[in-house]
Amino acid sequence: MKKSKKMLDKKRLEEINFPYEEVREVQDDLILSVQNALEKGKNLIVHAPTGLGKTAATLAPAVSYAVKNKKTVFFLTSRHTQHFIAVDTIKEMKKKFGLKVLGTDIIGKKWMCVQPGSRLLRTGEFADYCRAVREEGKCEFYTNVRDNSKVSVRAKAAIDELEPFNPMHTEDIINHCKNKKLCPYEVSMLIAKKSSVIITDYYYLFHPQIMQSFLAKLDKEIEDSIIIIDEGHNLHSRIRDLATEKISTNTLLGAVREAKKYGYDEALEWLVAIQDVLNEMSKSMKHNEEKLVDKKKLVDKINKIRDYDSLTAELSFIADEVRSMKKRSYIGSVARFLEAWKGPDHAFTRIITMRDNVTTISYRCLDASILAGDIINSAHSTIIMSGTLTPISMFRDLLGIENAVEKKYESPFPSQNRLNLIVPLTTTKYAARSNAQYKEIAKVLGRILDAIPGNALVFFPSYFLRDSVNSFLECRKTIMIEENRMTKEDKKELLDKFKEYKDVGAALLGVVSGSFGEGIDLPGDLLKGVVIVGLPLQVPDMETKQLINYYDKKFGRGWDYGYVFPAFNKILQNAGRCIRSSKDKGVVVFLDERYVWPQYTRCFPEDSDLEASKKPEERIKEFFNSI
Ligand code: SF4
Repeated sequence: MKKSKKMLDKKRLEEINFPYEEVREVQDDLILSVQNALEKGKNLIVHAPTGLGKTAATLAPAVSYAVKNKKTVFFLTSRHTQHFIAVDTIKEMKKKFGLKVLGTDIIGKKWMCVQPGSRLLRTGEFADYCRAVREEGKCEFYTNVRDNSKVSVRAKAAIDELEPFNPMHTEDIINHCKNKKLCPYEVSMLIAKKSSVIITDYYYLFHPQIMQSFLAKLDKEIEDSIIIIDEGHNLHSRIRDLATEKISTNTLLGAVREAKKYGYDEALEWLVAIQDVLNEMSKSMKHNEEKLVDKKKLVDKINKIRDYDSLTAELSFIADEVRSMKKRSYIGSVARFLEAWKGPDHAFTRIITMRDNVTTISYRCLDASILAGDIINSAHSTIIMSGTLTPISMFRDLLGIENAVEKKYESPFPSQNRLNLIVPLTTTKYAARSNAQYKEIAKVLGRILDAIPGNALVFFPSYFLRDSVNSFLECRKTIMIEENRMTKEDKKELLDKFKEYKDVGAALLGVVSGSFGEGIDLPGDLLKGVVIVGLPLQVPDMETKQLINYYDKKFGRGWDYGYVFPAFNKILQNAGRCIRSSKDKGVVVFLDERYVWPQYTRCFPEDSDLEASKKPEERIKEFFNSI
């Protein structure tokens, strides 16, 4: 019996071009679920912790189905390492089975651009800059690809040269195109047009203004697409960010300077007047105060300066002219914001904030499903997966996913290799915060860190709390500190230094939503423990309050969806740094008395095997002695 099952498995795995020799039991089940969803044209939501081999288990059946049924697979991920893994998976499939399929890896256009200095621009600014230089024929990399809107001979030759190496990592395409003086993005789009699998960022399919033109340029239809969304827990907040626009008095200051510099006298008057409007609206506001603003209030005030729509159009036009002289246009940012401000009220909120003498006004999206739902449900099948899609129902609701099969997998790693320990000895509750409390937290944390034999990551709800506790912290480990807004290089340097301490032990103190909370891998002996200090439930800001109200009306789950679950999602991501392979052994400590309260313990995944202890150092030592 066993033998025939194995043979059937092998046959089935070959049918889907599964590129690896062995398939794990849960991977097997995931492949079947993907196949079922594809056959029935359903969506699939998968909670699958690290180590399951999700990429191969979804890509292999999806690409095989796509080839047979003339579909296109979009593998969407925000992580650089995942782009790499997906490209290598396709490479393996082609190598092992001689699969005749093209794949393309496309990252954000800005990151593929070879124009000097373009990476320093903000995303919206870059889009405007690129459009302006293309329209004016001022980008030679572009004109070398498109000859009077036809594909140039030079570009065709470069694409032919690249085909034997397909699929290529974006870095390689960029280098190749740079040498040939071709725009890497345009070349990649031409290859993508012929590809059955496209590995790219969420942005291209979920940006409200980008998706239509992206698909049209590729000559693909959403109905014939299979979308695989990796790290899907981030998608709803990413989409809300993409649909949000804001400007501040600093933006206006830049716009005023720009108008002066380039001699746009009339625009200068309008911009100064808009600046006055913002200053007047925030006149009575205190530091850190936030208020809701009515759409009409701003529109009426702008109308007094000049007709709102004409003003927006004229600023847009001027911004294009400015961009032909320099890459970035503040006037363009103002125009983009004014255009967005007149958008719908439903599912959006308008907030004015005063912070450090800077006024910011924003038009914020509250509901990712208004953009995501149509795309996800129009595709042939959408597979959304992550190691922290808990509860699955929340992600289904927030993204507006219909007709979905939901699957939940447990961690494939031996449960005896991990200890999830709640330590209910302290709290970071706002009402309990004081120097005495920080001292108490530092005392318990020091004992926990000393008991962990090796490196530990410690996550706090905020930098303020981290610094307050750290000022009292005493332990034998070397303490390293995550700075606010670290660059990629700084982050790498600190992580490399941290790794060097694996034998003697260091503690890297960061924050829950900081640089090290997700997307880093410290396998084996590089990390022995993660400590989450407190529950990252801050006093809700205006946007969070609006989210809570909105989700309450729509789903009857305002606090859960807008406040509690997002906080848990972050700490579960932090906790996930600890065990990255079947050989890793480590402890995750949740240091706050609230973690034993039923309203919060329900937020942990079912396979968490939580223990609680008021003598954490003893339990941690016992755990490490037993493995
Ligand atoms: S066309 Fe290509 S090279 Fe030119 S600005 Fe745009 S992305 Fe950069």
